[in-house]
Amino acid sequence: MVYRVIFLFILQCMFSIVLPADECPKLTGQVVMPSEKDYDKSRLVSNYYTSKNSHPDAIVYCTSTQDVQNAIEWALCKKLPVRIRSGGHNHEGFSTGKGLVIDVSKMKKVEIDHKTNIATIQPGITGGELYQLLFKEGLTQVGGTCADVGISGLVLTGGIGPLLRHYGLTCDSLISFEMVNAKAEIITVTKNNEYKDLFWACQGGGGGNFGVVTSIALQTYPAKKVIWFNIGWDWSEPFEKVINTWQELFSNGDKKWFSHIDIWAKPFPTQKLKKQPLKVLGVYYGTLEDAKKDLAPFLSIGKPTENTIELVDWVQAIKNFEDATATFLTERPEYKSSGAYAMKPLPKEAVKIIVDTLKNSNSPLLNVLLFSMGGASADIAPADSAYFYRKAAFFVDYSIQWLKPEEDKTQIRELDALRTKLLPYTEGDYIGNPDRSLKDYLKVYFGDNVERLRCIKRKYDPSNLFQFEQGVIPAEQNCK
Ligand SMILES: Cc1cc2nc3c(=O)[nH]c(=O)nc-3n(C[C@H](O)[C@H](O)[C@H](O)COP(=O)(O)OP(=O)(O)OC[C@H]3O[C@@H](n4cnc5c(N)ncnc54)[C@H](O)[C@@H]3O)c2cc1C
Repeated sequence: MVYRVIFLFILQCMFSIVLPADECPKLTGQVVMPSEKDYDKSRLVSNYYTSKNSHPDAIVYCTSTQDVQNAIEWALCKKLPVRIRSGGHNHEGFSTGKGLVIDVSKMKKVEIDHKTNIATIQPGITGGELYQLLFKEGLTQVGGTCADVGISGLVLTGGIGPLLRHYGLTCDSLISFEMVNAKAEIITVTKNNEYKDLFWACQGGGGGNFGVVTSIALQTYPAKKVIWFNIGWDWSEPFEKVINTWQELFSNGDKKWFSHIDIWAKPFPTQKLKKQPLKVLGVYYGTLEDAKKDLAPFLSIGKPTENTIELVDWVQAIKNFEDATATFLTERPEYKSSGAYAMKPLPKEAVKIIVDTLKNSNSPLLNVLLFSMGGASADIAPADSAYFYRKAAFFVDYSIQWLKPEEDKTQIRELDALRTKLLPYTEGDYIGNPDRSLKDYLKVYFGDNVERLRCIKRKYDPSNLFQFEQGVIPAEQNCK
């Protein structure tokens, strides 16, 4: 027995000299392994509920394209799948989980070409940081209304925001990008070069699916002063009338404004949050007098308890959107989100379903948001980019938040029931607002563009290195 142990020990020593412990290339950047103290913080994303059970094999915070290349080579060698993370705002936590998480949030350099107003942006900058930085140069991006959302996540999934009727979605301002692909090669992708299929796929279908975007050239635009409006009502007022009026005014794609209608359940903690349960928010591109005239139909409905119509700087308007809608009540929010498109205004019976459900809800934090779509975002044909639902009148965002972890199932059931009741009046969903319970999710997110996306996935990532629960699955066969 003793001889056997000694023999095995000698054998082990011999092998550890002949064979290095790990022949894989090294991870560079800031590496966080499961045994390290920062691991628990690093594995989470903004929705605690959808990331609390995610345990990556490793997380690497890259600071350069070289770090990203090394990370992909390491994952290939270890045969681990890769998740990509920037702002970490994917509602379903798809940017964390099994495999290697490549986090680019520390890559934040921005350069602006003042002749063309094209900004070359590293992928870790957030929407809020970019708004502030560009504003100092008199410019703005076509972005969303949440400061902490990563600009690369927004570009790659679509990007719905206040300038969409003027310049389209965020992805429509994409000029080119640099990507580290599934072979760890650096490629430059434009609308017209040899990677034009990949460009098409990344305008709305690119988040986490094809490679790590390490630089984005984005068209930016002059930042102008704008009229901000926020008109709010309590539950004692006629909600249905407000929603129907909002739909009439905002369904025709008129470029003079962009708006959200924000509708909360009846037990909404109005006093605590200092917000009304029903709000019409938005920006108006015109004079203050014209804004007041055009918004008059709202002011004559019941007695609005909030009524702000004022001229503000562009970045202030963006901040106002965020302040008016933000309601995460804890540092580690637990919530569920979903979405759908209304291709035309919701009929009165659908509006009644929304109002009755919210009125009778047990949850104070069940929320429906309608976003006005159309304008320049609808000028592009659905087949001309992976983002499919170009012709929608509105995007409908459903969410529910809870404060006691044990309430998750009942709350999610409430959200699912509302989405299901509205299915006869809606289509699809936005991949920026994913919902992991959706069946046939690729069809739901990408409509008639699914097959083309799957072909492009097969061409660039046939072994599905970049994967997550609702990722694009490579086509079974090579496509023509
Ligand atoms: C509070 C809140 C407000 C929001 N507001 C808006 C809004 O106003 N308008 C709107 O359109 N959407 C909005 N969203 C949705 C949000 O824009 C999308 O979820 C977006 O994809 C998040 O990007 P991220 O970088 O922050 O998230 P992440 O979770 O880091 O990434 C999102 C997806 O993109 C992939 N990805 C990220 N970076 C890269 C990269 N460099 N290369 C390749 N893939 C990458 C990830 O793998 C993941 O699949 C909001 C979400 C939240 C939570």
